[in-house]
Amino acid sequence: MPPLLRPALLAVLTACAAALAPAKTLIHAGSLIDGRADAPRHNVTLTVDGDRITAVADGFTAAAAGDTVIDLRNATVMPGLIDMHVHLTGESSPTSYSERYFLNPADFALRSTVYAKKTLLAGFTTVRDLGAADNLNNSLRDAIAKGWVVGPRIFSAGKALATTGGHGDPTNGLAEIYRGDPGPKEGVINGADDARKAVRQRYKDGADVIKITGTGGVLSLAKNGLNPQLTEDEFVAIVTTAHDYGMKVAVHAHGDEGMRRAILAGVDSIEHGTFMSDDTIKLMIAHGTYYVPTISAGRFVADKAKIDGYFPAVVRPKAQAIGPIIQATFQRAYQAGVKIAFGTDMGVGPHGDNAREFIYMVEAGMPPMKAIQAATLSAATLLGADKDLGTLEPGKLADLVAVPGDPLADIKLMTQVTFVMKAGTVYKQ
Ligand SMILES: [Zn+2]
Repeated sequence: MPPLLRPALLAVLTACAAALAPAKTLIHAGSLIDGRADAPRHNVTLTVDGDRITAVADGFTAAAAGDTVIDLRNATVMPGLIDMHVHLTGESSPTSYSERYFLNPADFALRSTVYAKKTLLAGFTTVRDLGAADNLNNSLRDAIAKGWVVGPRIFSAGKALATTGGHGDPTNGLAEIYRGDPGPKEGVINGADDARKAVRQRYKDGADVIKITGTGGVLSLAKNGLNPQLTEDEFVAIVTTAHDYGMKVAVHAHGDEGMRRAILAGVDSIEHGTFMSDDTIKLMIAHGTYYVPTISAGRFVADKAKIDGYFPAVVRPKAQAIGPIIQATFQRAYQAGVKIAFGTDMGVGPHGDNAREFIYMVEAGMPPMKAIQAATLSAATLLGADKDLGTLEPGKLADLVAVPGDPLADIKLMTQVTFVMKAGTVYKQ
C-alpha cells in the first residue's frame, strides 16, 4: 500500500468505527429485583453496553439514535439465575444405568448440549456442574464459552472424587470383569496422598471446583446411602490442596458424621445435607459453610421410588428413605440461619425444571425474595464470582432474566421465564 494513502484510509476507518460504535441496549423493567436489596424497585431502566451493565436508573430512559429498547414493563427483571448443583451430561431414567454400554462419549456430549440449552432457556445463565465422566463437563463449559453451543456459563468439577466403593466410584455394582481398580485419575482415592494427587489431576484437567462424595448416596449401586466415606485426614488433604489451587470444595453428604468431618476440614458447601443434626447446623454456622439443599432431587427420587422397576433394587430403599427428608432439613437449616445457595441436582430430575426448587423452598418457609437471592447473590458469592455475577449493578456482567407479573406474590412464576440475556446477548425474548 502506498504510504500516501494511509492517512486517507485512516480517516475512512475512523468514520466507519464511529458509525458502527456498538449501540447500547436499554431495558425498561416494570419491576426490578436486583439480587441484593430486600425490596423490588419499580419502573427502572438498565443500560447494557457490550457484555456489561453500565447503568441502572429510575424511570424509563429514552433511547438515543441506534440504541435498542427491550420492553419489559409488564415483567419482573432479575439477575440471571444460578444453579449450584447440576449434572448436564446425564438425566436419570429407568435406562440410565445401562446407557454407558450403548452410548459413546460423543453421544453423551451431543446430548448434553440439549440439556444445556434447556437450562439456559429456563433462566439459569450460570451453573456449577458437580461431576461427569470423561471430564465432559469441562469440555461442555469450553464449548459454550467459545460460542459453539448454547448454554449457561459453567463452573465445572470434572469427575467427582470418591473412595473405593464410595458414592462416586464409577465401577460400583459392575460384574467383576468390568470393575477394575480405579485410582486418583479416575477420581477414586484411598489415603491423603491419593487425595492430593486427585485434586491436582482435576486442576490439570481444568476443573474450577472440587466435588467430593463424602457419604453414601442414593443413586449409586451400593447399599449404604449415609455412611461416612472419607477419613478426616482424607478430607483435610483434599480441602487444603484444593484451596492451595484456588478451588472451592463441594461435598455430597446425606449422613451426619460425613458432614461433620467435611465441615471441620473446611469445605465450602454441603450438598443435600439430608440427615443434618442440630449440632451440625451449629457447626455450619460457626464455619460459614454454605448449604445447597437440592430439594428437587429428593422429591424426584422419592416420587420415582413408588414405581416398580424404575430404580435398581439396591437403590429403591435409599430413595424412599432419603428423598422425603431433604425439604424438612432445609427448613430447619434456613430457620437456624445457615447460609443457603440454590441448587437442584438436575440430571437427577429433568433439566429445565430447575426453577421448581423455588416453589419447594418457599413451601418450606423461605420468603420468595430470599429464595431468589439464594439463586443470585448468595450463589455468586459461593462461586467466588460475585464481582461479575449475582446482582444487577453497574459493572456486572449483563446476565438477566424476566418473568411476567410478580414472583414475590406467586413464586410459581419463576418457572415461566420469558426473557433471557447472558453477557449482553439475548437468548429468549
Ligand atoms: Zn449431584
